[in-house]
Amino acid sequence: MNFKEKIRVIPDFPSEGIRFKDITTLLKDGEAYRAAIEALAEHYKGMEIDVVLGPEARGFVVGAPLALALGAGFVPVRKKGKLPGETIEAKYDLEYGKDILTMHKDAIQPGQKVLIADDLLATGGTISATLDLVRQLGGEPVGVAFWIELMYLNGREKLGDVAVHSLVKYE
Ligand code: AMP
Repeated sequence: MNFKEKIRVIPDFPSEGIRFKDITTLLKDGEAYRAAIEALAEHYKGMEIDVVLGPEARGFVVGAPLALALGAGFVPVRKKGKLPGETIEAKYDLEYGKDILTMHKDAIQPGQKVLIADDLLATGGTISATLDLVRQLGGEPVGVAFWIELMYLNGREKLGDVAVHSLVKYE
């Protein structure tokens, strides 16, 4: 399936000069949504994965069904103040200022194999912070999966030696 055709590009959102990749057009198409999850699952089939981690909110839409497809658990990564239990934190840079991602302290056991999933890799800031959370708990990151990768922002470089896989690339 040509996934790029299913993704709507909206110019100048949320600010001028940004070409926003809108995945809602893919999500509302049942066949395309299923195929986009299966295409990622295919890549990791046969690998030992204990949990899939997804940062809110679009990371849930990719990560949770991917976890089901792989027979793994799902762990939500959330902005500070949203998770009810004891949490760990990682700070990351935004265009203006900083934000904090959190995860439950007991979400991952040391040595567990962790796959991180999100809709889109841009600068890599979100996923770097997510990798930081995984490592704080002694988890072993086995890969990072995206539907979309913005090649011109070189997000991969920020993620070190963790294997990155994406379905659709924008040059
Ligand atoms: P980053 O931390 O820079 O890799 O950006 C991560 C998140 O920002 C992605 O998961 C997207 O949800 C969102 N994002 C950044 N750039 C875009 C874009 N051009 N279109 C849609 N979403 C974007």
